[in-house]
Amino acid sequence: MKTHILVTNDDGVTAPGLLALAEAVRGLPDVKVSILAPDRNWSGGGHVKTLERPLRVREVTLADGSSAYTSDGAPSDCVALALLGFFEEKIDLVVSGINPMPNLGHDVTYSGTVTAAMEAVIWDTPGIAFSLGSVDNHLGALDYTAAAKVAETVVTRALQHKFGPGMLLNVNIPYLPHEELNGIRITRQGLRVYRDRLDKRVDPRGKPYYWIGGDSPTGTAEEGTDVGALINGYVSITPIQLDLTMYSAIPTIGDWGW
Ligand code: MN
Repeated sequence: MKTHILVTNDDGVTAPGLLALAEAVRGLPDVKVSILAPDRNWSGGGHVKTLERPLRVREVTLADGSSAYTSDGAPSDCVALALLGFFEEKIDLVVSGINPMPNLGHDVTYSGTVTAAMEAVIWDTPGIAFSLGSVDNHLGALDYTAAAKVAETVVTRALQHKFGPGMLLNVNIPYLPHEELNGIRITRQGLRVYRDRLDKRVDPRGKPYYWIGGDSPTGTAEEGTDVGALINGYVSITPIQLDLTMYSAIPTIGDWGW
């Protein structure tokens, strides 16, 4: 039986990174590929479950002429739709991306790309998120060729080794030609350094409004981390689980005299 792969993203169904990922997995042997992705950009939208309104799904044609489905829900809603029965055939693997910007360290909780893969984990399905480490404010079209090649390799390995429930892979690929990549590193989450600033402005009616701006985050390029791997030209693969418990704090907080 064919492996049924769902392709989704957080940039919207028409994003070139989604098509690059879909084309990469379509080339694999014995796979059936279905696409269900948001109808708009949800970047930074986090892990969403839309409960207060219904979700609509419609069929669209992508730039290469292939057919895809799009919904007015978040990336995680698209994954839930797919895994809860929108498609008749069971989904065996969810791949999300390719996001144009990296998702490193604490970014994973903001990232629509990564939280789509988190939703897969909730429904006992393996999920892989792919992000490209393109430079800030990149002008013009990005080249997804190298990242798509990496995605093909990662998905092939994941299908061969069948990774277990409760885990997703967060893959970040340096924005380099494929032959200039130094290899693959299995990493832990590194430390992102956020440089957000609150911009307070005044609207035409004299009322204040706020915009979170500032510079793009940097990171601490520590050995063994996703940030470190990417800066040194390596593809970073971080296994992620949804258990956020800080186990080391359980005894300490237990001593608070309950
Ligand atoms: Mn995005």
